[in-house]
Amino acid sequence: MKNIVILGSTGSIGVNAVKAVKNLGKGWRVLGLAANSNLKALAAQASEVKPAYVSVFDYAAWKQLKASPPRGVKVLPPGVEGLVAMASLKEADIVLNAVTGAVGFAPLLAAIRASKQIALANKEPMVMAGELLMKEARRWSARIIPVDSEPSAIFQCLAGIEPGLYGASVSKIFLTASGGPFYRTKGSLALVKPAQALRHPRWSMGPKITVDSSTLMNKGLEAIEISGLFSLPISKIEVLIHPQSVMHSGVEFKDGSVLAQMSNPDMKLPIQYALTWPGRAKSLAEPLDFFKLSRLDFARPDFRRFPCLELAFYAAGKGGIYPSALNAANEVAVENFISGKLRFTDIAAVVEKTLSACRGDSKERLTLSAAVEADGWAREKAAAVALGIRR
Ligand code: NDP
Ligand code: MG
Repeated sequence: MKNIVILGSTGSIGVNAVKAVKNLGKGWRVLGLAANSNLKALAAQASEVKPAYVSVFDYAAWKQLKASPPRGVKVLPPGVEGLVAMASLKEADIVLNAVTGAVGFAPLLAAIRASKQIALANKEPMVMAGELLMKEARRWSARIIPVDSEPSAIFQCLAGIEPGLYGASVSKIFLTASGGPFYRTKGSLALVKPAQALRHPRWSMGPKITVDSSTLMNKGLEAIEISGLFSLPISKIEVLIHPQSVMHSGVEFKDGSVLAQMSNPDMKLPIQYALTWPGRAKSLAEPLDFFKLSRLDFARPDFRRFPCLELAFYAAGKGGIYPSALNAANEVAVENFISGKLRFTDIAAVVEKTLSACRGDSKERLTLSAAVEADGWAREKAAAVALGIRR
């Protein structure tokens, strides 16, 4: 029996993860569900999959949950404590981390230190300190299996190669991006409304990552995540705009051979693979029909029109605490944009101003606590910058 804990179970990845576990059927069980505050969705999931544990982060929601918990279910504490407890449950075989943002850092670290198999959707902690978290995973014999479709594609292309040999074998990573809703938009993006940015042409996802996809920051965050996951320099990562989202990324090896992973764009496939790895099982994703694909297009991204992508590569190049500061500033800016307090183009401005105020340490001296501290500093700085820009 494989026991799965799902952090962020009520979100876009979490809901698909529950479907994937149910699809896998006998021998698979949801052990724990964690959300932020959506008690209604959590209760519905709990009655469907009958977990042994639930938790919610938000204190008011937690008090309500504690007052009338689902029958036979143990309620873990609120806040980070609950997420950490959930991530390190003794009975858990696989921890799926699908919360949004840097809040996933502590539970990810806890799952690593509990030597779990980790299905990782939550990319933000890997942006903050990917290399160090991978080092920690090696130390504790934890396995991190990416869920995000692009890192999953690369992971699948690298199957069979010793992680220590990735650097010597790989000459380039082709990181694909749909281009988001504004890839073909002409003219200024300053007046883009949140509702427009929240309408992704290919994927149905949570609000934060959907906005990140529209600014292309998501691709920058993925590039940094991939660099940490596979210990490859950021200079080996090339972003390809590929509007059909059929090739989910690829690897060019030293001999010039390219392996790419393809499928219809459906997160249920990489989610399930992160659970069944190294095996495979029939998934709920519709198989790819090559005869229905009229064409596959590839183009270079426009770094000037999408400055967030350029800022991410800049932060990655600087190393140290810069990626953590980039991520935190972006989280603050996106929240402000979604709530109508900043314009679309202000997102990059807030990140840029925060990064230019950042006085980072050299790469060698980054520690897990320095990455977390930089996150806190950058949040305050970005909030102040956003306040200055608001009109
Ligand atoms: P959603 O916004 O749809 O869902 C987020 C989930 O996390 C919800 O269950 C939410 O609970 C929960 N959550 C948020 N904050 C907290 C908290 N402080 N404590 C506990 N739970 C919390 O996001 P997505 O599913 O789209 O994305 C999740 C992660 O996966 C992100 O890091 C994203 O970048 C990554 N990802 C997502 C993809 C996708 O297709 N959606 C693709 C690749 C990566 P509640 O419902 O109560 O608010
Ligand atoms: Mg992705």
